[in-house]
Amino acid sequence: MSKFESLLDRVAGSDAPDMADILALLNASGAQTQALYRRADDIRRARMGDGILLRAIVEFSSRCSRDCAYCGLRKAHRQLKRYRMNTAEILASVLEAASSGIKTVVLQSGEDDTLDPFWLADVIRAIKSGTQMAVTLSVGEKPQEVYALWRGAGADRYLLKIETTNPSLYRRLHPDMDFDRRLECLRVLRELGYQTGSGSIVGLPGQTAEDLTQDILFFKRCDFDMIGIGPFIAHPDTPLGLEGDGDIQAVLKVLAVTRIVVNNAHMPATTAVGSLEEDHRLAALKSGANVLMPNFTPQPYRQAYEIYPHKRCLTETSGACVPCMETMASAIGRCVNYSRGDSLKIKV
Ligand code: SF4
Repeated sequence: MSKFESLLDRVAGSDAPDMADILALLNASGAQTQALYRRADDIRRARMGDGILLRAIVEFSSRCSRDCAYCGLRKAHRQLKRYRMNTAEILASVLEAASSGIKTVVLQSGEDDTLDPFWLADVIRAIKSGTQMAVTLSVGEKPQEVYALWRGAGADRYLLKIETTNPSLYRRLHPDMDFDRRLECLRVLRELGYQTGSGSIVGLPGQTAEDLTQDILFFKRCDFDMIGIGPFIAHPDTPLGLEGDGDIQAVLKVLAVTRIVVNNAHMPATTAVGSLEEDHRLAALKSGANVLMPNFTPQPYRQAYEIYPHKRCLTETSGACVPCMETMASAIGRCVNYSRGDSLKIKV
């Protein structure tokens, strides 16, 4: 057995992998890189199966009160036309997803301080009473009582990406946010019984391989139910607009190593991975990912939700996504799994 295969065995078999081992995997090159992706794919198949789960995303509001340096929705981007969908529009999108056979909806927005939590609780209740769908929220940091209100209304899951676990890099990128508060939000979400997801951006200006190693160890320690890894994509109307995009091989390596280290989390082939110069979602699905996220945000809102430029599938109709994803799955000998796809760690 080669030294690299032994390294893969050691990391895959450890409950507390060594930082130097993870760094060595992230530095894989040539044939080692293919061995790394193969191992991640094998572990994905053994733990998650060959079915690709679908999560319908509805980007219901582009309003945001924060100023993250990389994001096109940041409040300082004043030329952006903002919107918030009303209840009827959201429910129509959710029902369209449900009629496609999808059983999870992700309600996503900017971190909007003016969002009425009771209104969103009513939306959650309407979805839960009218459909069989699992509801995932991705609306940022909120007080504990608000998280509890939405959980009580029936929300099942919550996504709150850490973006980077390097506290000083985090501070530079999030001038009006606090790293410890973000950690506290993640702790509260888990305590309230949400299936909790986090994740990171790969290729951030100033980010090192050591930072990415710490991100992966953080995912392992927190034992998240879902982990999203995507590339940094420079948005021209942000302070990082002149930086280069994240490198796809670096993204795939972080994805693959994360799959090897955290073998039982659901991991999407993110829309951002599909929005670089080429669509790399198939490569992500072959490097550890087991989820796709069809977009059910209706027009004209879909085009206005511009976190980063050149986002994939901006002009397609919602109904086009599912057949496209069926085709993607069969292109790599897999299939779409239309179950709810709850965390492997809980009994629902
Ligand atoms: S990343 Fe989220 S919180 Fe930050 S500016 Fe964008 S939408 Fe707002």
